Amino acid sequence: MSEGIITIRAGREKPILQQHPWIFSGAIASAKDAAPGDIVTVVSSKGDFLARGYWNAKSQIQVRILTWQDESIDDDWWRRMLRRAIEARYHAPQSGVGSRIINAENDFLPGLIVDRYADYLVLQALTLHIDQNKTHIAQLLAECFEEAHMPVAGVYERSDVDVRGKEGLKQSSGRLWGEEPPLYVRFGQENLIRLVDVRNGHKTGYYLDQMDNHAILSQLTASQSAEKLRILNLFSYTGSFGLTAAGHVVNVDSSGDALALAEKTYQLNERPSNDAEFIQADVFEYLRDAVAAGEQFDVIVCDPPKFAHNKQQVDRATRGYKDLNLHCFRLIKPGGYLMTFSCSGAISADLFQKVVFGALADSGRQAQIIQHLGPSADHPVALTFPEGAYLKGLLLRVY
Ligand code: SAH
Repeated sequence: MSEGIITIRAGREKPILQQHPWIFSGAIASAKDAAPGDIVTVVSSKGDFLARGYWNAKSQIQVRILTWQDESIDDDWWRRMLRRAIEARYHAPQSGVGSRIINAENDFLPGLIVDRYADYLVLQALTLHIDQNKTHIAQLLAECFEEAHMPVAGVYERSDVDVRGKEGLKQSSGRLWGEEPPLYVRFGQENLIRLVDVRNGHKTGYYLDQMDNHAILSQLTASQSAEKLRILNLFSYTGSFGLTAAGHVVNVDSSGDALALAEKTYQLNERPSNDAEFIQADVFEYLRDAVAAGEQFDVIVCDPPKFAHNKQQVDRATRGYKDLNLHCFRLIKPGGYLMTFSCSGAISADLFQKVVFGALADSGRQAQIIQHLGPSADHPVALTFPEGAYLKGLLLRVY
C-alpha cells in the first residue's frame, strides 16, 4: 500500500488502543509520505499496525481515525459505514422525517455530519479529507438511501462553520448532488409540519438534537390541568419547543429571521394567533424586565447558544448560565417547571447541575429533578468519545 505512515511516540498508544478517534500532534513521532487530507496508516513505535485514518498537519488533531482494523478505506468501506448509520436510525419514522443520519465521530465517521429533512440531505464537512471527498460522499449517500427505499431529491452542503478554519478550510455551501432544495423544506408528521431553511438556518437549518425534548415538553403541557398554561420559550429560534406545547407560548429570540419563520410555522399548523407571541429581544434584557414587571410563567424553556467554546471560557460561561437560571427561577409559578439546557461541550453535566443548584440557592426557591435531559436518540454518543456529549439539560419542578 502506498499510503503515508504515521509513527506514534513510544508510550502514547493508549488512547488509540482505547479507540479514541483523535491523534494530536504531540503524540506523533514522524509522518512519512503523508499528503494533506490523505489516508494514512498509524503504527506504534515498534512498527505495529494501530489504525487507519486521515491526516492534516494544519490541524492540532493531525489524524482522525476511521478504522482500527487493517482494512482499505475504499468505496465498499464507505458504503458499509453509511448503511450502518442509516440502519441505526430505523427506529425513527420513515416518512416526512427530520433526523440526524451521521453524527461525525459518534458514528465513527469523523468530520462528517449529515441531517435528513424529508427528501433532502444536508451535509457538513468539518475536515480536509471529508471536504476533498464531499461530492463523492454525497453520491454514495444518495445511492445508499435509494437502496434503502428512501430516495433523496438532493444533497445540500452547509459547511459554513468557523471550526473549518482549524483545518485550513474556508466556509463553503451549496448544492452537492441532485436538486436544489426549495426555500423552506417541510418535514414532520401530517398534523405537525415543521419548516427548515436549509440555506440560511443555523447549523444544517434545525436543532434536531432537541426533537425528543420538544416531545417531552409537549407531553408535560398536555398532561396539565384545564387552565391555560403560560409558557416562556427562551432562545426560541424557529419556535420548535413551543410548537407542540399546549398553552400560550411566549417565544423570545434575538433573530428576527428565526422568529418570522416561527410565526409562519405556527400559522401553517393553524395554531390560534392569540396562543403565541414572538418577541425579538436580548434574552438577558427581556428577563430583567420580566422580573421587574412581576411576570409569572407555568413553564420555562431555556436553551441558550453555546457559552463556552473551550476550557478557557468555562468560568465566564458558568456565570452566564447561573444568571440566566436565577432569573428563570424568579419567573416560575410555584409548582411550575423549568427545562434548562447547556450545549457547551466544555461544561460537563455535573458542572451544569452544580451551576443550576447555585442559581436555585440564590433564588431561595425549592426544586426537584424530574428528568435528566440529553440529545435525541438519532444523536448517539460514541462510548469511546466523551467529547461527543455536548447537550445536557434538566427538567425541574420548582416550588
Ligand atoms: N431552542 C431552539 C434552539 C435555540 S438555538 C430549538 O429547539 O430549535 C439558540 C438561539 O438563541 C438562536 O436562535 C439565537 O438566535 C438565539 N440567541 C443567541 N443569543 C441570544 C440573546 N442574547 N438573546 C436572545 N436570543 C439569542
